Amino acid sequence: MATIRQLYQLQEIELEIESDEHSLQQITSQLGQNQAVVKAQNKLADEQSRLEELKRQQNSAEWEIDDITTKLKTTEEQLYSGRIGNPKELASLQQEAELLKAKRDHVEDGALEIIDKVELAEAEVKALEGELEATEADWQSQQKQLADDKGQLETKIAELKQKQQQLLAGIEPQLAELYYKLKQNKGKAVAKIEQGICRGCRISLPTAELQQARSGQLVQCSSCGRILFLA
Ligand SMILES: [Zn+2]
Repeated sequence: MATIRQLYQLQEIELEIESDEHSLQQITSQLGQNQAVVKAQNKLADEQSRLEELKRQQNSAEWEIDDITTKLKTTEEQLYSGRIGNPKELASLQQEAELLKAKRDHVEDGALEIIDKVELAEAEVKALEGELEATEADWQSQQKQLADDKGQLETKIAELKQKQQQLLAGIEPQLAELYYKLKQNKGKAVAKIEQGICRGCRISLPTAELQQARSGQLVQCSSCGRILFLA
């Protein structure tokens, strides 16, 4: 009976090792993954280039305003110089000055709109910089946590494997062979008996098998073949 108990313990340990190894695999695949950071970086880069484009538009509007102002100044100088006496020419200069003023007003309105957009984009860039910083900090601490968890799991698995070897050392080779053969075929080699039922296949066990199990003999379930363990 002690041996069957050992087999059952071996099974429990091996199940734990498998589950821990699965967790370890998941952790390992998450280590170094920084999709959230890359996403935040891309968002910031997009907004930064939008801001640059808006600033270019602002500059070109300002240049245009300067240009119009210079032309207007020249026109007005001519207009008020007193050098031109021809009324037709004066009227034409007057009209040109009006046109330039109207054009400048229009460009100035556009420039004001662009300046508003620049301010909004600057605020957005600042917010996204903060977001990126927070995402990076989260990522760092998450990576640290993952690395810690990985180390702990590796230690735990090593300890479990040591226990597994110790248990195996105390189990007869033929029995171990049967155990692993059943494990390979059924997933689990040992089934508990609960209320006269094999927990491996949920079939009621014949009285003879129950009695054998009670007396500590090695009994395999007549239905599923698993080694029966009476706790
Ligand atoms: Zn069974």
